[in-house]
Amino acid sequence: MQTESDRLKALPPYLFAEIDRRKKAAVAAGRPVIHLGIGDPDTPTPDFIVRAAQAAVADPATHQYALDRGDAGFRQAIAAWHKKRFGYTLDPETEILPAQGSKETLSHLPLAVMNPGDVGLVPDPGYPVYASSIQFAGGRVVRFPITAERGYLPDLGKFRKADLRKAKLIYLNYPNNPTAAAAPRAFYDEVVAWAREHQVLVAQDMAYSEVYFGEPPVSILEVPGAKDVALEFYSCSKTFSMTGWRVGWVAGNAAAIASLVAIKSNMDNGVFTAMQRTGAAALEGYDRPEIRALRQMYRRRRDCLVGALAAAGLEVNRPEATFYVWITCPKGIDSRTFADRLLADADVVATPGIGYGPHGEGYIRMALTVPEAQLQEAAARIKRLKF
Ligand SMILES: *Cc1c(COP(=O)(O)O)cnc(C)c1O
Repeated sequence: MQTESDRLKALPPYLFAEIDRRKKAAVAAGRPVIHLGIGDPDTPTPDFIVRAAQAAVADPATHQYALDRGDAGFRQAIAAWHKKRFGYTLDPETEILPAQGSKETLSHLPLAVMNPGDVGLVPDPGYPVYASSIQFAGGRVVRFPITAERGYLPDLGKFRKADLRKAKLIYLNYPNNPTAAAAPRAFYDEVVAWAREHQVLVAQDMAYSEVYFGEPPVSILEVPGAKDVALEFYSCSKTFSMTGWRVGWVAGNAAAIASLVAIKSNMDNGVFTAMQRTGAAALEGYDRPEIRALRQMYRRRRDCLVGALAAAGLEVNRPEATFYVWITCPKGIDSRTFADRLLADADVVATPGIGYGPHGEGYIRMALTVPEAQLQEAAARIKRLKF
């Protein structure tokens, strides 16, 4: 009996599974492990959102199948939020699609827009979902480097002509996981012109749109004409500490959204209407002090960890956005060895950069999703190590 498809066998070995195994062994042995590996907000979902969800769940009108294109009230709340936050107008009927978080639509997109043999361009290092979903759709993955020298922005002039001719889709992700880099408006101007010239659909992953410390991140859809070539993927997960709830949306190109709707209507029956109402309540409350307090909390944690690691002699990027810190490995130590040493000798879990692609080598990522005291303790333990 065949129980594993070729497309699953073709996936690269999942590096993080091995780290997870060692982490679990350390915890089971009773060691005081500090978890800076996975980026999953540790604070509960704000109360006003929980209460909105309770009311929505109690209303029988939310209990049936949701419509393909999602709840009209949620789509209007999304359009109003984009208008307030970025200043542009979206048509709630055709340019917005509610989704079960953003990973779901990011991964369905290649099935909706690519043919077998088409090329999909993915950042290296990058969120692993982009490459695997292109592979699932029978596409060919072409990785492009994002490096410190260019502020982790790609050089769009560097693609091979043969790849560009076959390219149908490019994934971008700013603010960026894992490097924590943000993209300036001028970069998106360049991306939109490039995408128009080469007729490549841009999928810009905006999961960290509201986790920032300086200027609020700009949206690619602010660029005139961006809707002709781009989709942007949003999520309540990180903004509102709602990773488990599964609420997000896609905004932008109407034709690509129509294709996503067609794929989704064959795969799922929409986002629970109560969750869509909850998403609307979250967006309507996005100016509330408890949401601003989340940003301030991550800022304090960032300053705490970056300061302590720098004092411990490590080279650290001070992130402008996201809740990650991207740390250069000490000289002569690769990212896997460094992460192994941190777990073995300091009981600190971090993720090796190589897990995000070959250009992630030389770095490790730490997540700011634990209290400050633990970040301080982690840095103090690291300071005692000799490299
Ligand atoms: C967390 C994350 C997501 C998606 O999370 P959802 O919960 O599915 O919205 C998407 N992209 C990146 C880069 C992330 O880090």
